[in-house]
Amino acid sequence: MRSFTLICALLFCATPAASAKPADAPVAPSPAAVHPVEGAVDYGEWAARYGNFRRGHEHEGQDVFAPAGTPLLAVRDAVVIDKGDDGGRGNYIALYSEAFRETYVYLHMRLPTPLAKGDPVLAGRRVGSVGCTGSCDGDHLHFEIRRGRGLTGKTSDPLALLRSLDRPKR
Ligand SMILES: [Zn+2]
Repeated sequence: MRSFTLICALLFCATPAASAKPADAPVAPSPAAVHPVEGAVDYGEWAARYGNFRRGHEHEGQDVFAPAGTPLLAVRDAVVIDKGDDGGRGNYIALYSEAFRETYVYLHMRLPTPLAKGDPVLAGRRVGSVGCTGSCDGDHLHFEIRRGRGLTGKTSDPLALLRSLDRPKR
């Protein structure tokens, strides 16, 4: 029993008392979070929304339209856990927030991110630029929120968070 407890401590086992559930809490503006697209954005029509079926599969993120080259920013303090260009995703980056136990995925960036896997980023740090690489037909960010660490966790609708972080339009 004693050794199990020690191993558990070494592996950072979750302690129920400390497990907040931010994903289930009402979404509210947080100074610790920043909209992933700098400047004015457009969330498009139904086809851009999370959960719609198109091209034979479910749309697992929210598309955010902005001109090519618009800076993309880290939505929360996080670490870069993946990056690349797999064809459909175009140039992409995945950021994991330890505090929220969520992964934020950015697709179709104009250029490969200059960041490397393992790099820590603070909310607001530039991670890339809006573009249209991969399976894309108009400059936009495809933004996903996934439960846990990685690219295969369950997705959720990012729109409420995005709207809560939206900058006032002039
Ligand atoms: Zn999309």
